[in-house]
Amino acid sequence: MKRIGILTSGGDAPGMNAAVRAVAGKAMAEGLEAYGINYGFAGLVAGDIHKIEAADLDGVIQRGGTLLYSARYPEFAHEEGQLKGIEQLKRFGIDALVVIGGDGSYHGALRLTEHGYNTIGLPGTIDNDIPYTDFTIGFDTAVNTNVQALDRIYDTAHSHDRTFVVEVMGRGAGDVALWSGVSIGATAIVVPEVDWSMEEIANKIKHNRANGHRSNLIVLAEGVMGAQEFVEKLSEYGDFDARGNTIAHMQRGGNPTAKDRVMASKMGAYAVELLLAGKGGLAVGIQNNQLVNHNMLDLFDSKHEVEVSLDKLNDEISFK
Ligand code: ATP
Repeated sequence: MKRIGILTSGGDAPGMNAAVRAVAGKAMAEGLEAYGINYGFAGLVAGDIHKIEAADLDGVIQRGGTLLYSARYPEFAHEEGQLKGIEQLKRFGIDALVVIGGDGSYHGALRLTEHGYNTIGLPGTIDNDIPYTDFTIGFDTAVNTNVQALDRIYDTAHSHDRTFVVEVMGRGAGDVALWSGVSIGATAIVVPEVDWSMEEIANKIKHNRANGHRSNLIVLAEGVMGAQEFVEKLSEYGDFDARGNTIAHMQRGGNPTAKDRVMASKMGAYAVELLLAGKGGLAVGIQNNQLVNHNMLDLFDSKHEVEVSLDKLNDEISFK
Protein backbone atom coordinates (compact mmCIF):
# COMPACT_ATOMS: atom_id res chain seq x y z
CA MET A 1 0.00 0.00 0.00
CA LYS A 2 1.39 3.38 -1.05
CA ARG A 3 -1.44 5.88 -1.18
CA ILE A 4 -4.38 6.49 1.11
CA GLY A 5 -7.34 8.61 0.04
CA ILE A 6 -9.43 10.61 2.52
CA LEU A 7 -12.87 12.08 2.06
CA THR A 8 -15.55 13.69 4.21
CA SER A 9 -19.18 13.03 3.36
CA GLY A 10 -22.69 13.82 4.60
CA GLY A 11 -23.18 16.65 7.09
CA ASP A 12 -20.04 18.49 8.20
CA ALA A 13 -18.96 18.34 11.84
CA PRO A 14 -16.30 20.17 13.86
CA GLY A 15 -13.32 17.87 14.29
CA MET A 16 -13.49 16.42 10.78
CA ASN A 17 -10.37 18.42 9.95
CA ALA A 18 -8.56 17.01 12.97
CA ALA A 19 -9.43 13.54 11.65
CA VAL A 20 -8.21 14.37 8.13
CA ARG A 21 -4.98 15.71 9.60
CA ALA A 22 -4.49 12.59 11.71
CA VAL A 23 -5.05 10.21 8.79
CA ALA A 24 -2.68 12.18 6.54
CA GLY A 25 -0.11 12.70 9.30
CA LYS A 26 -0.09 9.04 10.30
CA ALA A 27 0.09 7.96 6.65
CA MET A 28 3.14 10.18 6.12
CA ALA A 29 4.72 8.86 9.34
CA GLU A 30 4.34 5.36 7.89
CA GLY A 31 6.02 6.37 4.62
CA LEU A 32 2.75 6.54 2.68
CA GLU A 33 1.22 9.34 0.65
CA ALA A 34 -2.13 10.91 1.50
CA TYR A 35 -4.61 12.12 -1.10
CA GLY A 36 -7.50 14.41 -0.30
CA ILE A 37 -10.75 13.86 -2.19
CA ASN A 38 -12.96 16.97 -2.27
CA TYR A 39 -16.77 16.92 -1.94
CA GLY A 40 -17.18 13.33 -0.75
CA PHE A 41 -18.22 10.67 -3.22
CA ALA A 42 -19.17 13.37 -5.77
CA GLY A 43 -15.53 14.52 -5.88
CA LEU A 44 -14.32 10.94 -6.03
CA VAL A 45 -16.37 10.32 -9.17
CA ALA A 46 -15.34 13.68 -10.67
CA GLY A 47 -11.65 13.08 -9.91
CA ASP A 48 -11.42 16.15 -7.66
CA ILE A 49 -8.40 14.65 -5.92
CA HIS A 50 -5.07 16.13 -4.79
CA LYS A 51 -1.96 15.06 -2.94
CA ILE A 52 -1.82 16.36 0.64
CA GLU A 53 1.55 17.85 1.56
CA ALA A 54 2.70 18.10 5.16
CA ALA A 55 2.48 21.91 5.08
CA ASP A 56 -1.19 21.65 4.04
CA LEU A 57 -1.90 20.30 7.51
CA ASP A 58 -0.71 23.41 9.37
CA GLY A 59 -3.49 25.19 11.23
CA VAL A 60 -5.99 22.51 10.32
CA ILE A 61 -6.66 20.88 13.68
CA GLN A 62 -8.28 24.02 15.07
CA ARG A 63 -10.64 24.72 12.18
CA GLY A 64 -14.31 23.75 12.07
CA GLY A 65 -16.05 22.60 8.90
CA THR A 66 -14.16 20.35 6.54
CA LEU A 67 -11.24 21.46 4.40
CA LEU A 68 -12.12 18.62 2.00
CA TYR A 69 -15.67 19.98 1.70
CA SER A 70 -18.68 17.71 1.79
CA ALA A 71 -21.55 16.83 -0.52
CA ARG A 72 -24.57 14.60 -0.82
CA TYR A 73 -24.26 12.40 -3.89
CA PRO A 74 -27.06 9.84 -4.03
CA GLU A 75 -25.77 8.55 -7.38
CA PHE A 76 -23.07 6.70 -5.43
CA ALA A 77 -25.71 4.22 -4.29
CA HIS A 78 -25.74 2.89 -7.88
CA GLU A 79 -23.00 0.63 -9.18
CA GLU A 80 -22.42 2.90 -12.16
CA GLY A 81 -21.34 5.69 -9.80
CA GLN A 82 -19.17 3.35 -7.76
CA LEU A 83 -17.36 2.07 -10.88
CA LYS A 84 -16.66 5.63 -11.97
CA GLY A 85 -15.19 6.30 -8.52
CA ILE A 86 -13.00 3.23 -8.78
CA GLU A 87 -11.69 4.43 -12.16
CA GLN A 88 -10.51 7.57 -10.41
CA LEU A 89 -8.87 5.61 -7.58
CA LYS A 90 -6.95 3.65 -10.21
CA ARG A 91 -6.01 6.83 -12.07
CA PHE A 92 -4.53 8.38 -8.91
CA GLY A 93 -2.98 5.13 -7.69
CA ILE A 94 -4.96 5.21 -4.44
CA ASP A 95 -4.96 1.81 -2.73
CA ALA A 96 -7.26 2.35 0.26
CA LEU A 97 -9.51 5.01 1.78
CA VAL A 98 -10.74 6.60 4.96
CA VAL A 99 -14.30 7.96 4.85
CA ILE A 100 -15.36 10.42 7.54
CA GLY A 101 -19.13 10.82 7.81
CA GLY A 102 -22.38 9.32 9.00
CA ASP A 103 -23.99 5.96 8.35
CA GLY A 104 -24.97 6.87 4.77
CA SER A 105 -21.32 7.49 4.03
CA TYR A 106 -20.49 4.10 5.54
CA HIS A 107 -22.67 2.45 2.87
CA GLY A 108 -20.53 4.10 0.19
CA ALA A 109 -17.39 3.03 2.07
CA LEU A 110 -18.56 -0.57 2.22
CA ARG A 111 -19.29 -0.61 -1.51
CA LEU A 112 -15.67 0.42 -2.18
CA THR A 113 -14.38 -2.33 0.12
CA GLU A 114 -16.53 -4.83 -1.77
CA HIS A 115 -14.91 -3.62 -4.99
CA GLY A 116 -11.47 -4.39 -3.52
CA TYR A 117 -10.55 -0.98 -2.05
CA ASN A 118 -10.23 -1.34 1.70
CA THR A 119 -12.07 1.50 3.36
CA ILE A 120 -12.35 2.47 7.02
CA GLY A 121 -15.16 4.70 8.34
CA LEU A 122 -14.78 7.35 11.03
CA PRO A 123 -17.94 8.67 12.74
CA GLY A 124 -18.20 12.35 11.82
CA THR A 125 -21.53 13.90 12.82
CA ILE A 126 -22.72 16.22 15.57
CA ASP A 127 -25.79 14.01 16.08
CA ASN A 128 -24.00 11.20 17.97
CA ASP A 129 -26.38 8.78 16.27
CA ILE A 130 -23.94 6.09 15.12
CA PRO A 131 -24.00 2.64 16.78
CA TYR A 132 -20.93 1.08 18.44
CA THR A 133 -19.35 4.34 19.48
CA ASP A 134 -20.02 6.29 22.66
CA PHE A 135 -19.24 9.55 20.88
CA THR A 136 -19.00 10.84 17.33
CA ILE A 137 -16.60 13.49 16.11
CA GLY A 138 -18.31 16.90 16.44
CA PHE A 139 -20.81 16.01 19.15
CA ASP A 140 -18.83 17.51 22.02
CA THR A 141 -18.28 20.78 20.14
CA ALA A 142 -21.96 21.05 19.24
CA VAL A 143 -23.00 20.48 22.84
CA ASN A 144 -20.56 23.12 24.06
CA THR A 145 -21.89 25.58 21.49
CA ASN A 146 -25.39 24.90 22.80
CA VAL A 147 -24.32 25.34 26.40
CA GLN A 148 -22.90 28.77 25.59
CA ALA A 149 -26.11 29.76 23.82
CA LEU A 150 -28.33 28.34 26.55
CA ASP A 151 -26.36 30.12 29.28
CA ARG A 152 -27.08 33.38 27.48
CA ILE A 153 -30.74 32.58 27.09
CA TYR A 154 -30.82 31.70 30.79
CA ASP A 155 -29.69 35.24 31.66
CA THR A 156 -32.59 36.84 29.85
CA ALA A 157 -35.07 34.19 31.01
CA HIS A 158 -34.06 34.82 34.61
CA SER A 159 -34.38 38.60 34.25
CA HIS A 160 -37.94 38.39 32.96
CA ASP A 161 -39.41 35.29 34.65
CA ARG A 162 -39.73 33.80 31.20
CA THR A 163 -39.96 30.31 29.80
CA PHE A 164 -37.82 29.47 26.80
CA VAL A 165 -38.16 26.45 24.56
CA VAL A 166 -34.86 25.91 22.79
CA GLU A 167 -34.71 23.49 19.88
CA VAL A 168 -31.39 21.76 19.28
CA MET A 169 -30.16 19.43 16.53
CA GLY A 170 -29.63 15.68 16.61
CA ARG A 171 -31.93 14.51 13.83
CA GLY A 172 -33.77 11.46 15.24
CA ALA A 173 -31.50 11.17 18.29
CA GLY A 174 -31.78 12.91 21.65
CA ASP A 175 -28.10 12.95 22.69
CA VAL A 176 -27.44 16.58 21.80
CA ALA A 177 -30.54 17.66 23.76
CA LEU A 178 -29.78 15.45 26.76
CA TRP A 179 -26.18 16.58 27.17
CA SER A 180 -27.06 20.23 26.53
CA GLY A 181 -30.03 20.06 28.90
CA VAL A 182 -28.19 18.45 31.82
CA SER A 183 -25.34 20.94 31.35
CA ILE A 184 -27.63 23.91 31.97
CA GLY A 185 -30.07 22.37 34.45
CA ALA A 186 -33.06 22.48 32.12
CA THR A 187 -36.60 22.44 33.47
CA ALA A 188 -37.30 19.63 31.03
CA ILE A 189 -35.45 17.84 28.26
CA VAL A 190 -37.72 16.56 25.53
CA VAL A 191 -36.25 13.82 23.33
CA PRO A 192 -37.70 11.17 21.03
CA GLU A 193 -36.48 8.28 23.19
CA VAL A 194 -38.31 9.23 26.41
CA ASP A 195 -42.09 9.46 26.95
CA TRP A 196 -43.22 12.90 28.04
CA SER A 197 -46.40 14.87 28.51
CA MET A 198 -47.07 18.54 27.86
CA GLU A 199 -49.31 18.69 30.90
CA GLU A 200 -46.50 17.45 33.17
CA ILE A 201 -44.10 20.00 31.74
CA ALA A 202 -46.66 22.78 32.23
CA ASN A 203 -47.21 21.63 35.83
CA LYS A 204 -43.49 21.65 36.42
CA ILE A 205 -43.18 25.22 35.22
CA LYS A 206 -46.09 26.22 37.50
CA HIS A 207 -44.42 24.40 40.40
CA ASN A 208 -41.10 26.11 39.69
CA ARG A 209 -42.68 29.55 39.53
CA ALA A 210 -44.56 28.95 42.78
CA ASN A 211 -41.28 27.97 44.42
CA GLY A 212 -39.32 31.03 43.38
CA HIS A 213 -37.47 29.60 40.35
CA ARG A 214 -37.56 32.56 38.00
CA SER A 215 -36.46 31.00 34.74
CA ASN A 216 -37.51 27.87 32.90
CA LEU A 217 -35.57 26.49 29.97
CA ILE A 218 -36.90 23.53 28.04
CA VAL A 219 -34.39 21.86 25.76
CA LEU A 220 -36.19 20.25 22.83
CA ALA A 221 -34.68 17.74 20.40
CA GLU A 222 -35.50 18.57 16.77
CA GLY A 223 -36.60 14.96 16.32
CA VAL A 224 -39.66 15.66 18.50
CA MET A 225 -41.04 18.86 16.94
CA GLY A 226 -40.10 22.47 16.25
CA ALA A 227 -39.73 25.08 19.02
CA GLN A 228 -42.61 27.25 17.81
CA GLU A 229 -45.03 24.34 17.61
CA PHE A 230 -44.02 23.32 21.12
CA VAL A 231 -44.61 26.84 22.45
CA GLU A 232 -48.08 26.91 20.90
CA LYS A 233 -49.00 23.56 22.43
CA LEU A 234 -47.58 24.56 25.81
CA SER A 235 -49.68 27.75 25.82
CA GLU A 236 -52.83 25.56 25.89
CA TYR A 237 -51.89 24.74 29.51
CA GLY A 238 -51.36 28.29 30.79
CA ASP A 239 -49.67 31.63 30.16
CA PHE A 240 -45.95 31.01 30.58
CA ASP A 241 -44.70 34.00 28.57
CA ALA A 242 -42.90 31.34 26.55
CA ARG A 243 -40.54 32.02 23.65
CA GLY A 244 -39.27 29.57 21.06
CA ASN A 245 -35.63 29.61 19.99
CA THR A 246 -33.68 27.51 17.53
CA ILE A 247 -29.90 27.34 17.72
CA ALA A 248 -29.81 25.81 14.22
CA HIS A 249 -26.65 25.64 12.13
CA MET A 250 -24.49 27.47 14.64
CA GLN A 251 -24.23 24.02 16.21
CA ARG A 252 -22.43 22.70 13.17
CA GLY A 253 -19.62 25.27 13.06
CA GLY A 254 -16.82 26.62 15.20
CA ASN A 255 -13.44 25.46 16.43
CA PRO A 256 -13.61 21.91 17.73
CA THR A 257 -13.21 21.30 21.45
CA ALA A 258 -10.10 19.58 22.78
CA LYS A 259 -12.15 16.42 23.29
CA ASP A 260 -13.20 16.31 19.63
CA ARG A 261 -9.68 17.10 18.46
CA VAL A 262 -8.08 14.38 20.56
CA MET A 263 -10.73 11.78 19.72
CA ALA A 264 -10.50 12.57 16.00
CA SER A 265 -6.70 12.36 16.16
CA LYS A 266 -6.82 8.95 17.84
CA MET A 267 -9.43 7.62 15.42
CA GLY A 268 -7.60 8.94 12.34
CA ALA A 269 -4.30 7.32 13.28
CA TYR A 270 -6.10 4.07 14.18
CA ALA A 271 -7.80 4.00 10.76
CA VAL A 272 -4.38 4.02 9.06
CA GLU A 273 -3.19 1.20 11.34
CA LEU A 274 -6.22 -0.87 10.31
CA LEU A 275 -5.55 -0.23 6.62
CA LEU A 276 -1.90 -1.17 7.08
CA ALA A 277 -3.10 -4.43 8.64
CA GLY A 278 -5.00 -5.08 5.40
CA LYS A 279 -8.44 -4.47 6.88
CA GLY A 280 -11.45 -2.76 5.34
CA GLY A 281 -15.21 -2.41 5.71
CA LEU A 282 -14.77 -1.45 9.37
CA ALA A 283 -16.21 1.45 11.33
CA VAL A 284 -14.04 2.95 14.06
CA GLY A 285 -15.54 3.98 17.37
CA ILE A 286 -14.66 4.73 20.94
CA GLN A 287 -16.26 2.70 23.73
CA ASN A 288 -15.34 3.04 27.39
CA ASN A 289 -12.45 5.25 26.24
CA GLN A 290 -11.00 2.45 24.07
CA LEU A 291 -10.68 2.57 20.30
CA VAL A 292 -12.80 -0.16 18.73
CA ASN A 293 -13.74 -1.30 15.25
CA HIS A 294 -16.81 -3.09 14.05
CA ASN A 295 -17.92 -4.53 10.76
CA MET A 296 -20.00 -1.89 8.97
CA LEU A 297 -22.65 -4.48 8.20
CA ASP A 298 -23.23 -4.92 11.96
CA LEU A 299 -23.78 -1.17 12.30
CA PHE A 300 -26.50 -1.12 9.70
CA ASP A 301 -28.50 -3.65 11.74
CA SER A 302 -28.04 -1.79 15.04
CA LYS A 303 -29.39 1.29 16.68
CA HIS A 304 -27.32 3.80 18.60
CA GLU A 305 -28.02 3.60 22.33
CA VAL A 306 -28.99 6.93 23.80
CA GLU A 307 -28.08 7.58 27.44
CA VAL A 308 -31.71 8.11 28.46
CA SER A 309 -30.81 7.98 32.16
CA LEU A 310 -29.58 11.57 31.72
CA ASP A 311 -33.21 12.68 31.54
CA LYS A 312 -34.02 11.03 34.87
CA LEU A 313 -30.88 12.47 36.42
CA ASN A 314 -31.83 15.95 35.28
CA ASP A 315 -35.32 15.55 36.75
CA GLU A 316 -33.94 14.28 40.05
CA ILE A 317 -31.44 17.04 40.66
CA SER A 318 -33.22 20.09 39.26
CA PHE A 319 -35.86 22.38 40.74
CA LYS A 320 -37.11 21.09 44.04
P1 ATP B 1 -25.15 12.65 8.12
O1 ATP B 1 -25.48 11.73 9.28
O2 ATP B 1 -24.42 13.85 8.56
O3 ATP B 1 -26.34 12.97 7.25
P2 ATP B 1 -24.44 10.62 6.28
O4 ATP B 1 -23.13 10.06 5.89
O5 ATP B 1 -25.40 9.66 6.90
O6 ATP B 1 -24.13 11.86 7.20
P3 ATP B 1 -25.94 10.69 3.82
O7 ATP B 1 -26.42 11.85 3.01
O8 ATP B 1 -26.91 9.67 4.24
O9 ATP B 1 -25.14 11.33 5.03
O10 ATP B 1 -24.82 9.92 2.96
C1 ATP B 1 -23.70 10.65 2.48
C2 ATP B 1 -23.33 10.14 1.11
O11 ATP B 1 -22.96 8.75 1.22
C3 ATP B 1 -24.44 10.16 0.08
O12 ATP B 1 -24.62 11.45 -0.49
C4 ATP B 1 -23.93 9.16 -0.93
O13 ATP B 1 -22.93 9.73 -1.74
C5 ATP B 1 -23.28 8.10 0.00
N1 ATP B 1 -24.25 7.02 0.25
C6 ATP B 1 -25.35 7.09 1.04
N2 ATP B 1 -26.05 5.91 1.00
C7 ATP B 1 -25.37 5.11 0.16
C8 ATP B 1 -25.57 3.76 -0.32
N3 ATP B 1 -26.63 3.03 0.08
N4 ATP B 1 -24.66 3.25 -1.16
C9 ATP B 1 -23.61 3.98 -1.57
N5 ATP B 1 -23.37 5.25 -1.17
C10 ATP B 1 -24.23 5.82 -0.33
